[in-house]
Amino acid sequence: MQLKLRLNGAGECVEPAPVRKTMSKTVSRPKAVAPSESDPWAAGLLLRGLVVLAAALALLAPLGFVPIIPVATGAVAVAEPQSGPALIPLGASTPTPGPLALVNPAPAAPHVMRVGIVAGHVGSDSGAVCPDGLQEVQLNSQIADLVVGMLRARGWNVDLLEEFDERLTGYQANALLSIHADSCVYEGKTGFKVTRAESSYIPGSEDMLVSCLSRYYNARTGLPFDANTITFDMTRYHAFYEINQNTPAAIIETGFMLDDREVLVERQDVVALGIVEGLVCFLEGEPVR
Ligand SMILES: [Zn+2]
Repeated sequence: MQLKLRLNGAGECVEPAPVRKTMSKTVSRPKAVAPSESDPWAAGLLLRGLVVLAAALALLAPLGFVPIIPVATGAVAVAEPQSGPALIPLGASTPTPGPLALVNPAPAAPHVMRVGIVAGHVGSDSGAVCPDGLQEVQLNSQIADLVVGMLRARGWNVDLLEEFDERLTGYQANALLSIHADSCVYEGKTGFKVTRAESSYIPGSEDMLVSCLSRYYNARTGLPFDANTITFDMTRYHAFYEINQNTPAAIIETGFMLDDREVLVERQDVVALGIVEGLVCFLEGEPVR
């Protein structure tokens, strides 16, 4: 290759300086610039503020400084049923309990005693008959009427029953008493008798009934208790086995129609009072006025 040499002033051969290409760098600037990016510091501050606010809420909410407002939708309220405490939809108006109302229970109705009085032989036969024509059924009926009147005067419910009254079947009451009198057969015999069923379902209760009747009848009439002439006619008295087995029952022989006639005929009010006081003793357990 042929080099063009040119001599400089000193006669030295000088290689021509290469021509440098000067390339003009053209910096392509974006034509559209986003405004946010135009201020990156503002965006950073906004993000930091949000982070600080979230942290503050997370710390203060459990302490109660920030109210938590529950939001429930209908879909939540009718969520699948769960076993356990009932779900009360949040946001619903729950009734606020007012002061407790003290309700006084209604006073229990006072118990009214119910008693059955059997007028011995009434509606059936004459019972014992004395030579002079005095019939047991007459005395029994008169004394039973007096007893019923006194008990009803106390406010009790009283059933006046005949000897074989159909109401005796399954009869339920606080007590049942059958009133009879002894015959004129035994001269010189005096006294009364009270007994219960031979085979009692409630012996404790019926023994108390017998005891009350015996004590008060003796106190009123002055007649002695004649335990020696208690017969099977008394202890196996038919009504004992007809009434309800939980009804305390007894039978009384008020006296002998011969020697005790004066008491049975002339002082029937005393006889009846002794019976009434015995029943009151059994059912109310308090001394009679
Ligand atoms: Zn009789």
